[in-house]
Amino acid sequence: MAALRSEVDVAVIGAGAAGIATARRLAEGDGLSVLVLEARDRVGGRVHTIAPAEFPLDRGAEWLHSADRNPLSPIAQHLGFSLHRRPPEWVSRLSRSGASREAEADWIATREAHYRARKKAAAETADRSLASVLVPGGRWNELLDATSTWGNGAELEHVSVKDYVSYEDSGVNWRLREGYGRLFEKLASGLPVALDAAVSSIDHTGRLIRIETVRGSVTAKRVIVTVPTSILAAEAIRFDPPLPEKAEAAAGLPLGVDDKLFISLTGALPGIEPDIYLIGSTRSRETMSYQVRPVDRPAIYCFFGGCFAAALEREGEGAMFSFAAEELARILGNDIRRRIAPLASTAWLRDPWSRGSYSYALPGHAEDRARLAAPVDDRLFFAGEACSPNFFSTAHGAYMTGMAAAEAALASLGRLPTRVQVTA
Ligand SMILES: Cc1cc2nc3c(=O)[nH]c(=O)nc-3n(C[C@H](O)[C@H](O)[C@H](O)COP(=O)(O)OP(=O)(O)OC[C@H]3O[C@@H](n4cnc5c(N)ncnc54)[C@H](O)[C@@H]3O)c2cc1C
Repeated sequence: MAALRSEVDVAVIGAGAAGIATARRLAEGDGLSVLVLEARDRVGGRVHTIAPAEFPLDRGAEWLHSADRNPLSPIAQHLGFSLHRRPPEWVSRLSRSGASREAEADWIATREAHYRARKKAAAETADRSLASVLVPGGRWNELLDATSTWGNGAELEHVSVKDYVSYEDSGVNWRLREGYGRLFEKLASGLPVALDAAVSSIDHTGRLIRIETVRGSVTAKRVIVTVPTSILAAEAIRFDPPLPEKAEAAAGLPLGVDDKLFISLTGALPGIEPDIYLIGSTRSRETMSYQVRPVDRPAIYCFFGGCFAAALEREGEGAMFSFAAEELARILGNDIRRRIAPLASTAWLRDPWSRGSYSYALPGHAEDRARLAAPVDDRLFFAGEACSPNFFSTAHGAYMTGMAAAEAALASLGRLPTRVQVTA
């Protein structure tokens, strides 16, 4: 394995959405030497497109959330990616899954009331969990919990109300036909990324910061850390002097678990249009969300989260598929069993470089995002989805924090472009 360049101006740890954004912004900083150190043998981190069939599959991020405000929408268009703008039907899927119209209307009304209650609770002084705003014994409590496992990767009882309501969602969601991961591959092309270069320690005692990797050591004037909170909370990267405040902030922002199972589908499904969402059960939080014939493809994408996903990861793809087949047979009839087969699945919790899917804040820990994002001595900077105050848990949120960290590092080196220095 090749040795690394041993001395650079700025080192970036991690080549996910945040690290790629950081490196792209730094590359504009006239003459700076930059190196991105990435543990995996690929770029993209939790954005990763594969193609086990004749169409691409996004193992991680798939949706350009808040697409009308998402900085990656115009970038993708400019780079020639094709946007799929059909809106997802995440709310009104019960009647298609066998429930009555009355049940669906009641669910939608209950869901809206619950979201209003979240906002009200968030305005109170003390933070609390999303579960605390449930109506005791409510008809849809299990389904609200299931939707939390899909949205937050965790059950309602674990999630901070204050943090939850700071997430901004314009309600516009698009996809890239070629895959979100392909966009990040393109954005990373030409950047100085060292793959297979897991970082084990960052020594910031001296004038130059010393980074130890499995491929040797690197020194840098500035370091931008973009690894997931799971890595920081476990202190899998050792800082010297230690940074307990970063480990604590990261522990307040654990990664929830969400996984996908991709299934091939043969034949038509009369009465079910492409991109329709189905729901496995309204009575258990251990259920899956199914997207049927997404982007007109002969497939079903199954999505599941929380403790249920963690357990299924341990059991493997066979167990995921059996579960999905059972639920789909209940909704679509037994005939579906002989028309589906597994294509691919994910296990983000077991992935050693992510150890989960995306961050949520524990009750009482909404402030941890700002604590995590704060620079140390104007030499160590932090970015990544968990650092975003309003777009956390997303690829574009990660991207925006990477841009901001790069700007801060450039400013600390006196290298901000003239336009920014003039206005400052
Ligand atoms: C199943 C799933 C579905 C999702 N759906 C969506 C969606 O539809 N839309 C959306 O916007 N977002 C979605 N997300 C979330 C989105 O993927 C993430 O928020 C975003 O990609 C995180 O980017 P990041 O740069 O902060 O972190 P990462 O992508 O995790 O990047 C960090 C990088 O650091 C590397 N690393 C870790 N440890 C070390 C080390 N010691 N040394 C060197 N490198 C290290 C990792 O390998 C990784 O490449 C989804 C995620 C999952 C898992």
